[in-house]
Amino acid sequence: MTTNTSSPCRDQQFASDNYAGICPEALAAMNEANSGSAVAYGDDEWTHRAADAFRALFGADGEVFFVFNGTAANSLALASLCQSYHSVICASSAHVETDECGAPEFFSNGSKLLVAPADDGKLTPQAIRTLATSRSDIHFPKPRVVTITQPTETGQVYTVEEIKAISAVCHELGLKLHMDGARFAHACAALDCAPADISWKAGIDVLCFGGTKNGMAVGEAIIYFDRALAADFDYRCKQAGQLASKMRFLSAPWIGLIESGAWLRNAAHGNACAERLAQQVADLPGLSLKFEVQANSVFLEAPAEVLDALRARGWRFYTFIGGSARFMFAWDTREECVDTLANDLRDIVLNETAALA
Ligand SMILES: *Cc1c(COP(=O)(O)O)cnc(C)c1O
Repeated sequence: MTTNTSSPCRDQQFASDNYAGICPEALAAMNEANSGSAVAYGDDEWTHRAADAFRALFGADGEVFFVFNGTAANSLALASLCQSYHSVICASSAHVETDECGAPEFFSNGSKLLVAPADDGKLTPQAIRTLATSRSDIHFPKPRVVTITQPTETGQVYTVEEIKAISAVCHELGLKLHMDGARFAHACAALDCAPADISWKAGIDVLCFGGTKNGMAVGEAIIYFDRALAADFDYRCKQAGQLASKMRFLSAPWIGLIESGAWLRNAAHGNACAERLAQQVADLPGLSLKFEVQANSVFLEAPAEVLDALRARGWRFYTFIGGSARFMFAWDTREECVDTLANDLRDIVLNETAALA
C-alpha cells in the first residue's frame, strides 16, 4: 500500500474508516473468547452474551444476528422484509444502491430498489410518499420497505425528529423501516442520544449496526426490534453463507465494545477528528466543504491540482461521491496525523500550487 511521505504519519491513511485495525477492546474480547471449546454456530456463551449486551444497550427485547459484513446485513435484512415482487425505497446515494453489487435484489430474488434523488443522502417523508404512491397498479413492484442510512454516505445525521417523521409516513403507507447503521455509533455520538432514541423508539423495525467501522476486525449485527419479522432469518443467514461456525469470534468483540463503552468512545473520537480537520482547512483559499461535517467524514472540494499534489505526498483518498475528496476517521486516528494532513493541504494551497492559479 502507498504510504504518505509526511513524517510521523507514514502508517496512517484516512481514505476510509475500514483502513483501521482492530481496537484493543474488541481484540481483548476475541482473545478472551479464544480459550477452550465452545459450541459452534452461535449457540455459545459469547454469542448469547453479545445478544444480551445489545438488548441491554437498546433497552429492547429484540432478536440479534451476527454476520460478516454490511452488504450481507443490509441485503438479508431487506430480503427478509420483502417478497420478490416488492420494492425498497432508498436514497440515490444509498450504499444498498451504489455499493452492494445488486446484493439486495439478488438475495430478495428480485425486489426492486426505488431510488429517490437526494443531494445530501437523506430521504424525506415527501420523497418517500411520492415514490410510494406514484403507482398502485399491478405492473409496478409494490412498495414495501424504506431504508435510510444513519449517518448517510455523505456524513449527514438524521435527527430524532427526522426519523420519526419518516416512520410516520411509513406506518401510514404500510411500509417497514430499515436502517443501514454501518456507522450507527457515530450517529449516537453526534446526537448525544441513546441508541433507542434513533432506532426502535423512532420507529425503526430492523437495524444493521456496523462493527467493522466501529473498531472490530469483521462483523455487523442485525437487530430486529419486532421479533416476528425475524422468523426464519437464521436460515436466510445460513443459505447466504453468513452463518459463522466459530461464531464466538464474530460475537465476542461486540461484548468488548459494548461493555467497555468503546463503541461510543471510538465513534466520538472519529467524529472529533473530522471536526478537527474541517476546522483547519475549510477556510483555505479554493477549498470548501461539500457537506456539513456531522459525523466522521470530511468531503473537501478542491482544484484537481491540489488533490494531485496531495496524492503526490502519499495521501490516499476517494473521490467517488460527487468528485470531492473524502477523508474518514476511525478509532485509531492520531490527532497529529490529522494536523499533518491539514498542514500538507495548507502548504499545497498557499505555497505549492498558488503559483499555478
Ligand atoms: C461500509 C458500509 C457498509 C458495509 O459495507 P461492507 O463492505 O459490505 O461491510 C454498509 N453501508 C454503508 C453506508 C457503509 O458505509
